[in-house]
Amino acid sequence: MKKGFLIVYSGPSGVGKGTIMKELLSLKTLKLCFSVSMTTRKPRPGEVDGVNYYFVTKEQFEENIKNDQILEWAQYGDNYYGTPKAPVFKWISEGKTVILEIEVQGADKIRSQYPDVRTMFLMPPSIHVLRERLSGRQTESEEEVNKRIEIAKKEIGRANDYDYIIVNNRLEDAIEDALEINLNK
Ligand code: 5GP
Repeated sequence: MKKGFLIVYSGPSGVGKGTIMKELLSLKTLKLCFSVSMTTRKPRPGEVDGVNYYFVTKEQFEENIKNDQILEWAQYGDNYYGTPKAPVFKWISEGKTVILEIEVQGADKIRSQYPDVRTMFLMPPSIHVLRERLSGRQTESEEEVNKRIEIAKKEIGRANDYDYIIVNNRLEDAIEDALEINLNK
């Protein structure tokens, strides 16, 4: 059977990864599988356990690491985020295309384990715009927004390590670019 394919999406918090991901996943013909991550972060309003993330305690997260159930994980701010191994392995063995939406440290780990992974970095038009988007969604405190902007500056410095950089200036264009890249595998 044809083996599946891994795609990694990274990009600073607030750049619009979620919106683009939703758009790609709604296109059933692409048959993309989205890896739902595990996190110790608290859910934002509207986020659903098992859909957006598996929301767990620090102890549960550490238990998963100990039991070798996490493909990659990283600390981002004060929380842990990780990719559950089992669904990814299952989809890959079924020949599916699997999307991991993860930050840069996780992308490094995946790249070193799976050299043929396709990696994409979603870039904001500017730090200023990113700050406006992050503040505008009103899901984080000002202190958290500042923390995320500091992380974003470091992440942007790693963009050249990715196969593709998509600038999310106009959403429609970014979606079109993402589609082009996903389809041309
Ligand atoms: P947020 O709190 O905004 O949902 O996510 C914070 C950051 O963690 C984002 O950059 C997001 O891509 C990343 N992230 C989400 N899930 C994972 C994961 O499973 N592994 C890693 N390494 N990063 C993740």
